[in-house]
Amino acid sequence: MVGNLVDFGRIWIMNKEEEQKRFEAIKKIRDEVVNLKESPLYATRVKPVIGEGSYFSRIVFIGEAPGKNESETGRPFCGASGKILDELFKSVGIKREDVYITNIVKDRPPNNRDPLPSEIELYAPFLDRQIEIIKPEIIATLGRYSMVYIMERYGLKEEVLPISKAHGRVFETKMGYGKVKVIPLYHPAVAVYNRNMLESLKEDLRFLIEIKIKNNNILS
Ligand code: URA
Repeated sequence: MVGNLVDFGRIWIMNKEEEQKRFEAIKKIRDEVVNLKESPLYATRVKPVIGEGSYFSRIVFIGEAPGKNESETGRPFCGASGKILDELFKSVGIKREDVYITNIVKDRPPNNRDPLPSEIELYAPFLDRQIEIIKPEIIATLGRYSMVYIMERYGLKEEVLPISKAHGRVFETKMGYGKVKVIPLYHPAVAVYNRNMLESLKEDLRFLIEIKIKNNNILS
């Protein structure tokens, strides 16, 4: 979708210079993560997973950490959870390339264990920078880890709830570049073997799209 863009409030009209600037800024993050030898996950790394999609997306989806498939390909959500995410996107007409998808932790924790607080602390500044570069209006967190991180980091600490209560709700906050709606979603992995959870995720995603349309009336 990107060509020449100008910032009209938060509506982007194509601009090659801005596109190049964002591309370079994300590339710098990639280079830094590639060289992150002090990470305890570096020794077992196959490929780091930085993120994928449009640098102008109004929605950023944030998971927790790459799994096996992701670390082999360097792409977020391309295994079993990724299939669910693709199905969710399809159900609401989102094209994967039009949104931005990333994780808090950019390397795979061994045996797909949960990321440790120290790992989140080490990698989260890269995520913060990605958010500042892309400037999304909506942040959709996927699962408990990214929900807690984003809400605590961006002034919503007091409002953190269990994911079973928070999913599909809108939490408004303000970032350096403007207002943002944080919408927690269940992690797609919950729906791998559970069709009810898939329906719940689809419902939350439909709601997210409604919010987005209300926000600016433009789909992308
Ligand atoms: N789970 C995540 O949280 N992120 C991925 O990229 C894949 C699975």
